[in-house]
Order: sequence, then structure tokens, then C-alpha cells
Amino acid sequence: MKILAVSDVVVDRLYSPEVRGAFPALDLILGCGDLPFEYLEFLVSSFDVPLLYVPGNHDPLFNSGNPASRADGCDNIDLRVTRVKGLTLAGLGGSIRYHPNRPNQYSQAEMYLRVASLTPALLWNRIRHGSVLDIVVAHSPPRGIHDDDDQAHTGFDAFVNFIKVFKPRYFLHGHTMPPNSNLAPPSSRLGATQIININPYRLIEVELHG
Ligand SMILES: [Zn+2]
Repeated sequence: MKILAVSDVVVDRLYSPEVRGAFPALDLILGCGDLPFEYLEFLVSSFDVPLLYVPGNHDPLFNSGNPASRADGCDNIDLRVTRVKGLTLAGLGGSIRYHPNRPNQYSQAEMYLRVASLTPALLWNRIRHGSVLDIVVAHSPPRGIHDDDDQAHTGFDAFVNFIKVFKPRYFLHGHTMPPNSNLAPPSSRLGATQIININPYRLIEVELHG
């Protein structure tokens, strides 16, 4: 299963008519937030595969009645558990709150509540499909992993707990800058979970399980 994940920065190589040839046999596109919706719409129409995304702190507040608040032809999975092509995915958009009254920003306590609200759907998914959680699509990193010390780029404590309890195979995020090219790749392990900083894009191959 080939997945193209994008986040934070528009990449000319992807925003090009040649993109389809550059990534053959793609199965799925995931967006980790803070990208212009036109870019997501370009990618979904170029590849004709599902594109699931979560909003970042620079994205508008989602409102199902307002077309300007969502990317056309794409699926905003913030606070949802969904199954696509045999994979179970959960969406957790937004960043830490660093500005009052801005959309898609949350305190540490608010993110605990958001994470808790996914629990019934995850348990139901486990009962119904017997499946594990394959991929979390998030905007912010977990606290202490790929995050920064400044207020706007602190990660969420709730994500660390979530990873320990639900053991997703992959936790994808953006929001923070990965280290420069020759330094350690922006990928870490916490228990069974591979945590990957997608910013600005990564091609990920995921094994389908039984
Ligand atoms: Zn961000």
C-alpha cells in the first residue's frame, strides 16, 4: 500500500503536471494540515485516489455548510475514525493554543477531551472489524517527540497517552520543522508506533495486515 503524505509546505515537485508519473501506483493521499485547499484538490484530482486530511492551526474552522471551509473532493477526518482500503485511520487536527480565539488550536486539557471522544469509535472498530488502528493523521506532534520548546510548537501530552493505549502502527504529523537533510530522519518509535514528521511530504509503504 503506497501512501503519499503531505503537510505544511507546498512542494513544486508535487504541484506539477508530472506528479502522477513521479509517484506511480499510489493508493492513498494523507494531509497533515496547514496546506492550501487548492493544493489538496490538485493532488486528489491528479491521482484519483482518496485524500484524507486534518486541519492545521492555519486552516479555517470546518463547517459542513460552508464549501470554503473544506477541500473539495477530499475528506476531513478530524475527530473521526474511518476505514479506507482495508486500513483503519483516525484524525486529530489542530495545534496547541498559542493565540486566543483562533480555530483549530487547543489547550492540553482540550486535546485530552478530543482524544477521549475517539475512544468509542475505536473500540467499536476493534469489535466490528477486529482491526488495530493503522494510522493516526495529526497536525501536531506528541509532546517531547519532534516538537519544539516555543509555545506554538509544543506537542500534545494527550497524543503520548493515546499512542501508549491504542498503539497505532503509524502516527503522522506536521506543524514542526524537521531537522536539516543530513541529520537524523524525522521518524521515531514509541512502543509499537512509528511517529513520522511529514513536513513537507513523505512516501510511505504500509503493509496490509491479514
Ligand atoms: Zn501548524
